[in-house]
Parts: sequence; C-alpha cells; structure tokens
Amino acid sequence: MEKSDLKSLVTQMYEDLLASIDAQENANKEDVVQYLQDAVNTISCIEDDCIDSIEHAKAAFTSTFKEIARKSLSEYENTNGRFEALTQMHQETVKECNDVTIDMSTITEKFHDIQEHMSQEVSRANRVITDLSNRINELEKSSNLDALTHVFNRRALINYLQKICKRGDIKNELHLLILDIDDFKIVNDTYGHIAGDKILIFIANILRKTLRDGDKVFRYGGEEFVIVLNRITEDTCREIANRILKLIRSNQLIYKGESLNVTMSIGATKYYAGDTPDALIHRADTALYKSKKSGKNQMNSELKNDGN
Ligand code: GH3
Ligand code: MG
Ligand code: MG
Repeated sequence: MEKSDLKSLVTQMYEDLLASIDAQENANKEDVVQYLQDAVNTISCIEDDCIDSIEHAKAAFTSTFKEIARKSLSEYENTNGRFEALTQMHQETVKECNDVTIDMSTITEKFHDIQEHMSQEVSRANRVITDLSNRINELEKSSNLDALTHVFNRRALINYLQKICKRGDIKNELHLLILDIDDFKIVNDTYGHIAGDKILIFIANILRKTLRDGDKVFRYGGEEFVIVLNRITEDTCREIANRILKLIRSNQLIYKGESLNVTMSIGATKYYAGDTPDALIHRADTALYKSKKSGKNQMNSELKNDGN
C-alpha cells in the first residue's frame, strides 16, 4: 500500500471518528475503542495488491459509523417514548385538577411550562431521529459492504459482474458459486433470529478465511452468499466448493450454551465470453436448485455444453 493511500485512509478514519462522536449525544470511550479496534482490523486485512482495498477499507469505516449512528438512534427513540409518556401523565394531572375545581392556577401554570418544555424536547429528538435516519439511508446506499456480515453486498456484486462482463473475453477462468444455507427457516424458528444472524456472521467469516487473495465473497440476499473465484479450473472449483461444504458442516457455533450446526448447498457455474451478470447468476441458481432437489449439503455445476 502506498504512503499517499495510507495517509488518505488515516485522514478519512480520523474524520469519520470525529463525525461519529459528534453524531452522538453521549459518546463514550467504549464506542471510540471499538471504532479504533475495527480500524486496526481493517488496516491489517488490506491486501497490498488489491485495487479495491482502499474502497473496501473506507466502506468498512462507513459501516462502523453506521452502527454507532444506529445506536444513538435507538437512544433517542427511548427518550422520545419516555417524554411522550410523561407529557400524557401531566396532561391527565392538569385535567384532574380542573375536574375537582380546585384553584391551583400556579401549579397548573407550572405544569403547562413543563409540558411545553417536554414537547419541545420531543420535537428536537424527532428532528435528530429524522436527520440520523436520512444519513443512515445515504450511507446504506453508498456503502459496498453488508452491515451484518461485513462482506461485500449485492450492489457490489452487480457492479463487479458488470465490470467483468463488459470486459468480455477474460484471460483466466472465472467461476461463480451461489451458496444457500439449508433449512435456515427452521434454525430461526428453533433458536431465534439473533442466533440466525450469528450464523450468518460465522459463515461469512469462514468463507473469508478460506478464500485466497483475488477471490471475493458477497452477501447476495438473506441467507445466500456468492463467491467469485479467479484463475482456477473446473476441478479446482469443485474441490474448493466441497472444502467449503465440509468446513461449514464440521464447524459449530455455540450460542447460549447450544451448539448450532448448519449445512449449505452450492450451485456453481463458469463465465463464458458474452455472458451477462443475469445469465451467470441464472446458471448458478439452476445448479443450486439441483443441489437442493438432490438432498442439500452438496454442490452441483451448470456449464454450457461446448465446454468453453
Ligand atoms: P432451503 O434449504 O430450501 O434453502 O430452506 P430455507 O429454510 O433455508 O429457505 P427459505 O427461503 O424457506 O427461508 C429462508 C430463511 O432465511 C427465512 C428467513 O427468516 C431467513 N433469513 C433471511 N435473512 C435473514 C437474516 O438476515 N437474518 C436471519 N436470522 N434470518 C434470515
Ligand atoms: Mg434462499
Ligand atoms: Mg436456504
């Protein structure tokens, strides 16, 4: 990584950190420490010869900021709820005082003051929530990373495939795999959505660690991932897919004392000159469907007959 890239990255990191502190009412040390730890991880993971790495790193910072913003947002929602409840309580108290015709004008006036103050606070909190929501939406749109698993998102996949397809005839073989967790609905129904989310993170980490430089992992949809493998043959692609299947079924995640096991099914295909992103994905999907129909926990390929 070049010196100028490093400087630009650190500047960006510094600006994002300050922005995230500013965005919070009560910024605390833990948030800053977490941010810096993420920064260290991100910088150590940068592949020096990967042209996307700077963008990837920047996206990772953006994603951290997004999480902090989300947290502050929920704090404001709590405040908002509490104030609304208090406002209602005061309104009822004022009404009661009037009902029993006790002349408590001073107290009533004071209540009105408090009420007005709280209404202003609710409006202010609402403005902050709207502002944060808008900023999160903008970040979501511009980010290339999936907020949950921190692998590339679907948008990044489409951009990447469009780039490849535009180039047309590529020098080395390129294979695309779609991976889908088997019976994930049952896992969610049995252990809950949070356990499901942990599995998605767990799988993304396994995929990231298994692949070599130049291969890319994307979260394609809910419980579906896509991997693009460069410079390999069909046989190697099969070996890699089977290695991934083995790793997934033999690793277990412990969640609240329960051991969670999952399997995945894979559909594979290869890039042929003239392919569009849709055609590539469609063939991999057809192969995935074969794997699901033939009993899951396996890989199948869908290739063109001419063997190009
Ligand atoms: P199959 O083996 O045929 O793929 O069955 P399946 O249950 O995995 O597939 P189905 O499409 O019926 O259900 C997918 C489930 O994935 C349903 C949904 O609740 C879950 N899911 C999708 N996205 C997320 C997510 O972000 N977090 C969690 N926890 N679950 C998710
Ligand atoms: Mg699915
Ligand atoms: Mg599934």
